[in-house]
This record gives sequence, structure tokens and C-alpha cells, in this order.
Amino acid sequence: MKSYHSLSQVRSDIASGTLTCIDLVKGYLSNIEQANPELNALTEVYDQEALAQAAVVQEKINSSKAGRLAGMVITIKDVYCHDGHSLQCGSKILENFKSQFTATSIQRLLDEDAIIIGRNNCDEFAMGSSNENSVFGPVKNAIGENKVPGGSSGGSAVAVQAEMCLVSIGSDTGGSVRQPASYCGVIGFKPSYGRISRHGLTAYASSFDCVGVLAQSVDDTALVLEVMSGADEYDHTVSHQRVPAYSKAPEWAEKFRVVSFDNINTHEALAPAVKKSVDQVFAKIESSGNTIHKMNFEYLKYVLPTYYILTTAEASANLSRFDGVRYGYRSEKAKDLDSMYKKTRTEGFGEEVIKRILLGTYVLSEGFYDAYYTKAQKVRRLIRDETKKLFADNDFIIMPTAPTPAFDLNSHDRDPIEMYLEDIFTVQASLAGLPSISLPNGTDENGMPIGIQVIGNSFEEEKLLSFSKYLQDHILET
Ligand code: GLN
Repeated sequence: MKSYHSLSQVRSDIASGTLTCIDLVKGYLSNIEQANPELNALTEVYDQEALAQAAVVQEKINSSKAGRLAGMVITIKDVYCHDGHSLQCGSKILENFKSQFTATSIQRLLDEDAIIIGRNNCDEFAMGSSNENSVFGPVKNAIGENKVPGGSSGGSAVAVQAEMCLVSIGSDTGGSVRQPASYCGVIGFKPSYGRISRHGLTAYASSFDCVGVLAQSVDDTALVLEVMSGADEYDHTVSHQRVPAYSKAPEWAEKFRVVSFDNINTHEALAPAVKKSVDQVFAKIESSGNTIHKMNFEYLKYVLPTYYILTTAEASANLSRFDGVRYGYRSEKAKDLDSMYKKTRTEGFGEEVIKRILLGTYVLSEGFYDAYYTKAQKVRRLIRDETKKLFADNDFIIMPTAPTPAFDLNSHDRDPIEMYLEDIFTVQASLAGLPSISLPNGTDENGMPIGIQVIGNSFEEEKLLSFSKYLQDHILET
């Protein structure tokens, strides 16, 4: 099948009669058959179901009754409920579990005639930065030998990268959509916290979790965001703010001011190629007559500890429901109720998840609660306020998405801190609840993709998307 990089390309071939939805799904199925055994981006392929759906959608197109996403073939991360389909969150503890309803975000895509072709591999319960923590085994980046795809939505990024689908729905708690997008050379978008309902998204850290989009074009990102956003009676934290027509965002035509944090953009952890890519962006912004506001971000050294204290605390509470009684796996070695809980959880969870539950339980325990959890909440507030303040007289913050391009599989095994450092630039927007996008911006000397991150003000997704298109057209490397 010919390569498609946006829904408009698909729709124009369907309109001209050179393509049908069924051909399209068959094309993706053949890409999956070729690439997935090696890349491991999909844990399940819904071939018959997708083909049947393609026939229904084609019929709707023929009779001019098609929804806004007709012709869009998508995959969804293994953290979303999808009625009647397996849901495992990359974990043994949810073995054989099937969803009993569909997540609001996913249902809205289906209602607009999107076709779901498969379920994406991911880090267990979305905890990780390399997609190596999955019961289904690691996902591989489609570019470079033995490189990780990033995480935790690594399967989603690779599915888009290797054209197994047009768009994938990932989730982003601290960078899980943006960082793999950066490693794989695709677009990754995390909206403002509360823009999209979390109903049916398995909770990792509820005050951070966001539904996110991985795509090849800003237009597709905008359209999918528009369809998924908005109030939902099943999620009381979701915003009731009006949903603008993101897909019709006006072309960017103004001068702008961006913030550049010196202590981030010259950070010692930056790989030389990443540093060069970000320098080039600022040089072009400057020469185009726009303003760069340079400063240090004084709280940089607190972002990772704050993020990891709060998310592990929330995770320890959220994951307490996986006890062998209600869902999935139950240990056969149990002798009584107590040992059933213990053995099920010990055998069912992987090492990283266990580590985080223990850490979260510790920071919430009596005696340490104020020193860690309460303190981290206060620091989060400071980080949020200091970041949001900048939007009073600046339009965006620009920084690398991650300090390095994709690293080798199994290379960060021994040092968890090294792995957590990969999140150093993505967690700020997560702590502050701000919308943020990772856009591809060239490659390193080995051809590995590099992403640039743009953070916007709260609920200014429309502005961020317009600006992203401007950057792609005028500033970024392709
Ligand atoms: N890599 C980060 C973590 O491990 C982010 C995960 C995410 O956004 N789900 O927590």
C-alpha cells in the first residue's frame, strides 16, 4: 500500500475512487504482518473486526453519512477499556481480563467512524521510559538496530512510525506520549490536564494522567483531539470548557515570544545532536525576528523528585485494586486470603511496578507523609505557578523533548536514575497540567530521530496547534 501521512490524503484517494476503506485496512494488516513480529508494537490485531468495520464505514462514505474520522485507522494503548476486548496494561496481573465498557475517549472516536485495528504494547501500567517493562516483551524502534522506542506508549509510537496505523491513542502521565514520539520521529501531543475524559483509562497517577495522541500530522492530531475532548458525566475532573474546532485552527500569522530555559537548553545531560537541534531552532526563531526570553528555570532540580514522589504515591493507591479478587490473575499457591493477596501481587506485578508501589506506600506512610507527600504537593504548586506565570508575557516554552535520542535496548538496566533522567524535560508540563507537543526535528549522526517540545498555556491547545504547524513549515528540520 502507498504511504499515508494524514487523513486528508486517505480521504482524497477514497473520494477519487482509487482506494476503499477495505483496501486501506488490508494495507495496514499487511504492514502489521510484515513488521510486527520483529517490532512487537501490537499485542493483538483485530483483523476480522477491522475489515468488517471498514465495510460499514465505506458504505457510510458512499451514502454521504460518514463521521469525521471515516478512513482513519487507529490503534489504542493497552491501558484503555474497549468493550469485550482484552485489557492487560502490559501486566501479568490482568491476564485474561476483558473490558466491560469502552473508555469515553475511545467511544468518541468510534462514534466518528474511526477503525480500531489493534492494541498497543506498552510499559506495565504505563510506568517506564523505554517500553522494556512489559509482560509481552520489549517493543523495538523501527529505526536503528536494537534501539528502544521510548515509553511508556512505545508500541503506539512504533505503530505510527512503521505505518501499522495512521494514529495511535497513547497516555501521558509524565511524558509517555511525547518521549516515545521524539524517539520514533512522530508527533506526540499531551493536552491540558482535564481536557479529555479519563473514564476508561486505567489510572496510574490520577492527578497527572492524560489521554494523548501520536500521529504523523498536526492536522490529524488536532482533529482527533477535537473529537475526544470535552465534558463527560463519568469523569468529574474533566473540564466543561468549550471545545474549539481544533482542526480548523487559524494559520499562525503573528510575531511571538518564546521562553528558553538556559539551564535546560544547555543541560549537561543533553546529547550533542539534541543540543544542536535545539540551538538551530532558537537561531532560526531569532533570525525570523521573533523574541526569545532567556532565563533559568529555578525549580529544575525539583521536577523529577516531585514527579516521582507524587506519581508513586498515587500509583500505590490506584493499583491496590489489583488484588486477585476482582480482576485477572490469581496465584494458585495461596493458602488463605492474606497469602492470596500477597502471592498474587508478588507474582502478578513486574519489578518496576513493585518498586513504585513500595516507594509510594513509603511516602504516604505515617511519619513520612508530611516530609515527602505534603512537601511534594507544595513544590508541585510552586512549579505550576512559576511555569504558568511565564505565559503572562510569553506565548510558548520551547525545549528538547528528551535529553537523548533513543538509546540501546537493555542499556539502562542497572541504573534506574539514568532511566528517570529521560523524563527530566517532559514532567514539567505534567506537573503544571499544561498542553505540550513533541515535534520531529531532524536526526542524530546515526539517523535516530530527535524531538523538540513546545509547551503552551493551560487550555490553549488551539494556539499550540497553530504554532506547531508554523514551526513545521518555517523552523523545524524534516
Ligand atoms: N516515564 C515516566 C514514568 O515512568 C512517564 C510515564 C507516563 O507518562 N505514563 O513514570
